[in-house]
Amino acid sequence: MKNRSRLLQNGTPGTGNILYWMSREQRVSNNAALLFASYLAKESGKLLEVLFVIDNTYPNANLRSFSFMIEGLKEVKLQLEALGIPFYLRSGKIPEMITEYLNLHQNAVLITDFNPLRHALAWKKQLLNSVSIPVYEVDGHNIVPCWIASDKQEYAARTFRPKITRQLADYLYPFPETETLKQEVSVHFETVNWEEILASLKIDRSVSPSGIQAGEKAARRTLQVFIDERIRDYAVERNHIRVNGCSGLSPYIHFGQISALEIALEVIKQCPADENREAFLEQLIVRRELAENFCYYNPHYDSFKGFPSWAQKTLFEHQHDVREYLYSRFELEQAQTHDLIWNEAQTTLVQSGTMHNYLRMYWGKKILEWSATAEEAIQTAVYLNDKYQLDGRDPNGYTGCAWCIGGVHDRPWFRRSIFGNIRYMGSKKLK
Ligand SMILES: Cc1cc2nc3c(=O)[nH]c(=O)nc-3n(C[C@H](O)[C@H](O)[C@H](O)COP(=O)(O)OP(=O)(O)OC[C@H]3O[C@@H](n4cnc5c(N)ncnc54)[C@H](O)[C@@H]3O)c2cc1C
Repeated sequence: MKNRSRLLQNGTPGTGNILYWMSREQRVSNNAALLFASYLAKESGKLLEVLFVIDNTYPNANLRSFSFMIEGLKEVKLQLEALGIPFYLRSGKIPEMITEYLNLHQNAVLITDFNPLRHALAWKKQLLNSVSIPVYEVDGHNIVPCWIASDKQEYAARTFRPKITRQLADYLYPFPETETLKQEVSVHFETVNWEEILASLKIDRSVSPSGIQAGEKAARRTLQVFIDERIRDYAVERNHIRVNGCSGLSPYIHFGQISALEIALEVIKQCPADENREAFLEQLIVRRELAENFCYYNPHYDSFKGFPSWAQKTLFEHQHDVREYLYSRFELEQAQTHDLIWNEAQTTLVQSGTMHNYLRMYWGKKILEWSATAEEAIQTAVYLNDKYQLDGRDPNGYTGCAWCIGGVHDRPWFRRSIFGNIRYMGSKKLK
């Protein structure tokens, strides 16, 4: 199996079991970290156990995101236990809970998921300062591990595409069946009162659950329906907002309920090698992993400072341009603009947690057009995206907002008011 892991810290192994702290990859199949942890356990003659910590201080998380996550975790627990792998759920602050768990159980080695976002890097840093056992990180989210795909922030898809395409031959292959994870244990599995846990979380409950079914099984069904019914027109239909031409897989990918690797392999296996398959794999692999690259190498991924210098300069030059419409964050959140298409997109987002890809671009571009400054625009877009999108709080979201407002991964276009050289988008096509 190609190496997707790296040692974050060496140390003296404890006397207890091997621990996989599951965080971003909330699934059993095609989970590289789980496989790696199982391999270490078998090699050392120890048992593997899995810990998940629900932290209600997770940035911008709310009832919508937590209920989707908890539904998925219920399935994870059952699947793991069927393989003889204990699953422990704890609720509290992430680094503290994990340190406490490790101290109590004297675990031999800690394995965890890669995540390029700021809060996850901070958790890991704090954790490494407080534990002395070996700690590994595994990138099970990307087909090519983020740090291997490229060692620097890429300028655009055209610079990233050849790099990742070259490496796919090494990484695009199936993982072993989950049966290989099986272990004999004689422990009683802990029971979890999921409803009680959800009810006890101090989170924003004003954002209602999305109504989308969560979990590995639902993710796989969604993928199969897309392959059977929609991928054949993807290249054209993905930009038509009245046609449901996309896969709808982003919430499952975001919560790690299905791996991009599995999706890519199924699509390659079941679909003809035509422009539709190519267009889909371009989004799933190149664009998605480019977003991971952006957030990993650019610490300002969600602010004006993260924009390329040509974009900062042009936005700065146009910051005093007269705005025909100027809306506050509150007015935008309440969908109180003059633009019916935008209002409908925002209202649907608030109610259902989703927005069509093409509309997301329009939505973001208009936030720039109607905000006092580009800095305010990126803050507003990120705030609304993270709060309401079921797939929000994701590198794709930060990169999507930065593409719309700050020209990230784009090029300068002809100059116009407010936007300067940032690409403009009008409503003509949408209408
Ligand atoms: C302003 C704005 C905000 C966005 N916010 C998010 C977000 O919070 N979370 C999120 O996952 N995506 C976000 N995107 C990217 C994209 O719009 C969504 O990934 C896509 O609409 C999800 O629907 P789907 O799964 O049906 O996509 P499909 O078209 O079926 O694509 C399959 C997968 O490819 C990836 N993908 C597709 N389009 C893009 C893209 N433009 N950039 C990177 N990866 C892509 C996603 O993982 C997606 O699930 C945003 C885009 C913009 C312009």
